[in-house]
Amino acid sequence: MDLKKLSVFLKENGIPAFRLNQVRDAVYKRFAGSWDEITALPAGLRERLRHGIFVHSVELLETQVSKKRDAIKFCFGLKDGLRIETVLLKLLADKWSLCVSTQAGCPVRCPFCATGRKGLKRNLSPDEITDQFLAAAHYLKAKGGEQKIGSVIFMGMGEPFLNYDSVAEAVRTMADPELIGLGQRHISVSTAGHVPGIRRFARDFPQCNLAVSLHAAEDALRGDLVPLNRTYPLSQLSKALKDYIFSTKRRVFVEYVLLEGVNNSRSQAARLNAWLRTVAAPKYFVVNIIPYNRTGGPYKAPTRERVQLFAGLLEAAGLEVTVRKSLGEDIAGACGQLAGK
Ligand code: SAH
Ligand code: SF4
Repeated sequence: MDLKKLSVFLKENGIPAFRLNQVRDAVYKRFAGSWDEITALPAGLRERLRHGIFVHSVELLETQVSKKRDAIKFCFGLKDGLRIETVLLKLLADKWSLCVSTQAGCPVRCPFCATGRKGLKRNLSPDEITDQFLAAAHYLKAKGGEQKIGSVIFMGMGEPFLNYDSVAEAVRTMADPELIGLGQRHISVSTAGHVPGIRRFARDFPQCNLAVSLHAAEDALRGDLVPLNRTYPLSQLSKALKDYIFSTKRRVFVEYVLLEGVNNSRSQAARLNAWLRTVAAPKYFVVNIIPYNRTGGPYKAPTRERVQLFAGLLEAAGLEVTVRKSLGEDIAGACGQLAGK
């Protein structure tokens, strides 16, 4: 919700300021989704607000629930008609994680990613990012679910650090105890390796989690898989991560999409391990292997055995490794499948 606009609206109409707090609590704490639900307000005021201000800047167009009920994908319409997607994931038994989008499309154009295929439409505003949370929380509340959203991951459509200011404001809103109040430790941002963004993030949000999509530890291959590497090659990324770890004392989550025959050989596992050691000691990393999810391109997913082999090689080298569960593949809600159609 545009709280600044609401505040101006209330002032201009001579409405006492305590109404602002009532609305803020109803929307950010109790997840009201429409003016009608905010019954603390007089009916006349609700009516005027309905014509002046949107409760959410995103409108729920479609919801898909996975067969196992462990993933829910939302398609939201923006006010200019563009569409974005947001996914609720049950990564833990008792809490949801919400994967939010930061851009409509993405300019980085990684060839294995459905979001990148269409290029960038535009950056999302801070409210368009935050309101994905509010609308998803409203959906869960309306369904009568007991389980809440415990964490937010900025891993939906778009490269967060190419929309830094909006992402930063959304993170503040989500962490702010007066607003959503999740706390920085429950917020993770994933970047394709935008070096200036990593440096700003270290200063601005030292308590949040940082994930970096590496996918290859050699410049030629990484330049093909993550074209942003041509602007910020591995040498620069290495320095930025070294400084990040030094200043925040935090671990970095390293994402590695496994593409059969492209980046999953023994020597590539060794290279990944060697590169990480140029950055910091193994205890500063969690390598998150993401078996490729189909997006209609030329790539192939590795077999389970090949995934285990690659993970085992890294573990043997002393790294902590997790293999990402592919939740929501049947609703095209898994990593890289968000296209906003
Ligand atoms: N733009 C950011 C965040 C969104 S993508 C980034 O790239 O980090 C979230 C993760 O999904 C990234 O690690 C991305 O590389 C991965 N991903 C993209 N397409 C995928 C696919 N088809 N299968 C598996 N993972 C994919
Ligand atoms: Fe953009 Fe991330 Fe997809 Fe690459 S993987 S195109 S950076 S959303």
